Amino acid sequence: MALLIRNAHVYAPRDLGVADVLMAGGRTLAVGKDLNVVIPGLETVDAAGKIMTPGFFDQHIHVNGGGGEGGYVSRCPELNLSELVAVGTTSLVGVCGTDFISRSVENLLAKVRALTAEGASAWMYTSNYRFPCTSMSQSVAEDMFLVPECLGVKIALGDHRSSFPRPDEVLHLLADIRLTGMITGKGGVLHVHMGDIPGIFEMFVKFQEGGFPIKHIRPTHCSRKRDIYESSLEFARHGGYVDYTAGFSCNGSTAKDILEAIDSGVDPTHITMSTDGHGSMPRFNDKGEMVGLATGGVGGLLDTIRDLIGNHGVPVERALIFNTTNVTDALGLKDQGRIEAGACGNACLFNDGWELTDVISKGCFMMRDKEIVKKGTFEE
Ligand SMILES: [Zn+2]
Repeated sequence: MALLIRNAHVYAPRDLGVADVLMAGGRTLAVGKDLNVVIPGLETVDAAGKIMTPGFFDQHIHVNGGGGEGGYVSRCPELNLSELVAVGTTSLVGVCGTDFISRSVENLLAKVRALTAEGASAWMYTSNYRFPCTSMSQSVAEDMFLVPECLGVKIALGDHRSSFPRPDEVLHLLADIRLTGMITGKGGVLHVHMGDIPGIFEMFVKFQEGGFPIKHIRPTHCSRKRDIYESSLEFARHGGYVDYTAGFSCNGSTAKDILEAIDSGVDPTHITMSTDGHGSMPRFNDKGEMVGLATGGVGGLLDTIRDLIGNHGVPVERALIFNTTNVTDALGLKDQGRIEAGACGNACLFNDGWELTDVISKGCFMMRDKEIVKKGTFEE
């Protein structure tokens, strides 16, 4: 199927002005003014007056359901495809969480492959909160080597639910991931769930001072507490990447997290955001007892972009980088998060009030004129 979207104002996320975008075979083939296209079966859509952005990329989402901290009833449900479509997310990295027994890494891989078959672009991290790490094969390094979707490893640090690995153990794991990243060409990422216990960012900076490249360490939930947030800024000023969970901010909003980080001297391209969607949001008291629970939503990326543009006056092409090119460049997925010839055919269309009207994934409409037209297998 070939699709030509004409006359939208295209943010790639770079501002390209009014342009035409041609997609076929799941990819973007050409972007330019007044494209002259002759292809049998071509569908042409006039999007004059609309804004076109890349499909959003969510790099921390519990697609097979997180949770479990409050017994069996607290296991969050699996995500359905239409939840992603409704908020413009076309691409993701799925993660496991606290429950290392019933939410296996194999279960996550199966869900990632199901979402890919349903039309999304999906990857994963192996392991979960535990150390030594949980792998599908002999080791997490072999998982990265053998499983194309596996971009790296997840761990929890500074959290009362973590396994409290020693610094030398974390460094050993990082060295393994870095080496496997070289062998596989995947880069190598240790995605770190950051808890509330301080000292972890300082440990990362010591690793750097000892000669380890800081870029392989990718902490998330960096703004749930103010002291953690401030440590994250210092880490980022040393060249690290920081990921903020959209909607969970000690500063009032994720937009403020991002803007304060930039003001403090952090490289804007080293700031990303994700949703923690379908994870549980447990609240604990001083004794570590759970006193409340909710399921994380998946719409925080879109909410934060609207906030950055509408309430903080951030130019569109800058507001979009935090969940498009910043994320995909850092993950080495250069054909994601952008509208350009050769990239995956993912895009969102908005009206001038920033209402999402259309979502295109791999060159096919998933939402059309505000109606979700592609649902998950069990949603029909
Ligand atoms: Zn999570």
